[in-house]
Amino acid sequence: MPTNTIQSINPATGKPVKTYDLLRKKQVLAKIEAAQAAQTTWHDTNFGFRQNLMMAAAQALRQRQNEYALLMVEEMGKPIREAKSEVEKCAWACEYYAQNAAQFLAEEAVVTDAKKSVISYQPLGLVLAVMPWNFPFWQVFRFAAPALMAGNGCLLKHASNVPGCAAAIEELFESVGFPKGLFTNLHIPSKDVASVIKHPLVKAVTLTGSEPAGRSVAKTAGQLLKKTVLELGGSDPYLVLADADLELAAEACKTSRLINGGQSCISAKRFIVEKAVYKDFLQLFKEKMAAVEPGDPMEEATAMGPMARKDLRDELHEQVQKSIAAGAKCVLGGKLPKLQGAFYPPTILTEVKPGMPAYDEELFGPVAAIIQAEDEDDAIRIANDTSFGLGAAVFTKNEERGFWIACEKLQAGSCFVNSFVKSDPRLPFGGIKNSGYGRELSYFGIREFVNIKTVWVQ
Ligand code: NAP
Repeated sequence: MPTNTIQSINPATGKPVKTYDLLRKKQVLAKIEAAQAAQTTWHDTNFGFRQNLMMAAAQALRQRQNEYALLMVEEMGKPIREAKSEVEKCAWACEYYAQNAAQFLAEEAVVTDAKKSVISYQPLGLVLAVMPWNFPFWQVFRFAAPALMAGNGCLLKHASNVPGCAAAIEELFESVGFPKGLFTNLHIPSKDVASVIKHPLVKAVTLTGSEPAGRSVAKTAGQLLKKTVLELGGSDPYLVLADADLELAAEACKTSRLINGGQSCISAKRFIVEKAVYKDFLQLFKEKMAAVEPGDPMEEATAMGPMARKDLRDELHEQVQKSIAAGAKCVLGGKLPKLQGAFYPPTILTEVKPGMPAYDEELFGPVAAIIQAEDEDDAIRIANDTSFGLGAAVFTKNEERGFWIACEKLQAGSCFVNSFVKSDPRLPFGGIKNSGYGRELSYFGIREFVNIKTVWVQ
């Protein structure tokens, strides 16, 4: 395959799907200039105008739900049921920002000694989004819906294994009437991202992806003093306390660990269980994990498909092997299946300790690391003993105590009680520590890429 193309591969079969041309430098420059021209006009439109188009985008997502869902299944192996609900969630985010952007960015009068002083929110211009493959539609829409409603233009550099999704999203915005070029897809390799960030017309960057990719983008943008938002990895701890409803906890833990084949930044990754209920929880959890078998992602009944790429599956298996070599016990799965495609079975490691990949690193696949805690304090200590801080959950029948632990003790951007962590357009989403900075969703998300301007009239 020539190096100026990218090819999507179906991870369930290993077969190529389609080949796309990568953009040459000149083409990238032309697209950036066209996007800027579109944004300049867009800046002057009002919220009502933008709202109509964003509502039309929501409608188009629903009308073409099957088509988009199939594209995701084909390119990254997401089970069709999950793919359809991802499209629906994108429509929800479009509607949410269509309906609320005017209020979130309304001019605010402030009483001072001026005749008039106000806070006004103005778009920054072109924002580059570097996006991952795991939720190929949702990750893009949760950035694009608020950014466009705020009056910005969007440049998308999507992950190399989902070029079809990237092209489809660009086509969707254009098809419902957004100005041509306002949302521009750039088929470029990651080595070309720096040159796009350096372009004077690009004002800000958001990246959702791994820690190394985040560091690289932040370094380039930082040198140029351009604003960044980073949504990076996680090693989310789920605390199962001695008084937890174990059935509820085991079900939520299984769901969170296996959703999207375990390839979610906010999947439960480390399960920290108080000694008193360790055996009972493990038995329940193991039964539930063992009942899920990876299968054909095109089938409605399939709960877990393949992983998105073979190399990612092999990397995960290596993390499992290294953890076992360092003393972890594999009590479920852990073996490469003889299936064609990038499949990996639900896997449970126990006796996980610091120094093992399963404790220290993100496990981006269906592998659960179980850690026994002496008591509640010990569970909280272990939960926070990570370089990440994206999500966390605590299971306890004492709701008040759970709320206090979630609010005051857990070091993460989203802390849930008696439920698995999920994103919701109405609530801010993002991390602390090495999980990144800045927030998406809610009114925080739409205010990331605006100039919060003070206007004073004497
Ligand atoms: P990734 O390898 O970091 O890729 C993410 C995006 O960054 C892709 O578009 C990739 O392009 C690009 N990229 C990679 N290295 C780059 C570099 N040095 N400079 C500029 N761009 C670069 O991550 P992934 O494997 O796609 O996604 C999995 C990771 O994303 C996990 O760590 C997961 O936790 C994290 N994630 C976080 C969130 C969140 O909201 N916090 C959500 C979803 C996923 P190429 O594909 O061309 O390499």
